[in-house]
Amino acid sequence: MNNDGFVSISYKVGHKDIWEPRMARINQACYRAELQTVVNGDRDVCTIHVNVDNLSEWMERLRILGLVLTPIVHVADFHGYNHKHQKPTPNKPSHWLCGVTRTHEIGQAFKEAEGGCNHKEAGRLLGFPECCTDAFLVNFRKNFDPQPLITAETTYPECNVTLRYFGARFISHLPCSTDCSASREVAKKFIKAIKMIDPEVVDWVYELLNGPLTWDSYHGIVEVDTPYFLGVTHSFPLMERKIIRKL
Ligand SMILES: [Zn+2]
Repeated sequence: MNNDGFVSISYKVGHKDIWEPRMARINQACYRAELQTVVNGDRDVCTIHVNVDNLSEWMERLRILGLVLTPIVHVADFHGYNHKHQKPTPNKPSHWLCGVTRTHEIGQAFKEAEGGCNHKEAGRLLGFPECCTDAFLVNFRKNFDPQPLITAETTYPECNVTLRYFGARFISHLPCSTDCSASREVAKKFIKAIKMIDPEVVDWVYELLNGPLTWDSYHGIVEVDTPYFLGVTHSFPLMERKIIRKL
């Protein structure tokens, strides 16, 4: 699988009417909460993807919120979910991965950290716990979708990232472990931001992350089964099937 980013959600009988609009609101609220955590001063930077043609429009939109947009890297377009950024191809659609900050100086510091591959500093500015950045740097080399490497005996719902491909999550980083207490603290700030945007979304995301769930990955395809839908997307091509139940 490459950057086609395919994501599919098949709703189970009787749940589409309720959960399809809920998933749309979850996606929208989580996206806006990324920006809100920066506005709230809970982190220095969040990242967003901006189409090449819309950069100045976004700069103005964010300026009104007191935020600064800093283009970081030019990448190929994708639809759905992306594990890694791909270089743009000439004459193919592309966009900028941008940092959003409260000041120009922090935007430049983030750009420098990203450009210099200073992942620890970039992680710090993004508000990611140091334990998680350290684990990410080790795990990502082995498996870019490292769920089997981070699943612990206890899973805090706030650290459950098995539905992130479909937009439902309380953290925007990969935790070092599903029982990482530092990630739970980060999640609290994200939840506070979601409550400012669309409070019902918090209950729905908790319902999904707390509920019965199966993460099933094999040959580059991962299926995540919930009581309301079956989500399918691309993943690291495991040669041995890995199933994690009831996180
Ligand atoms: Zn951690």
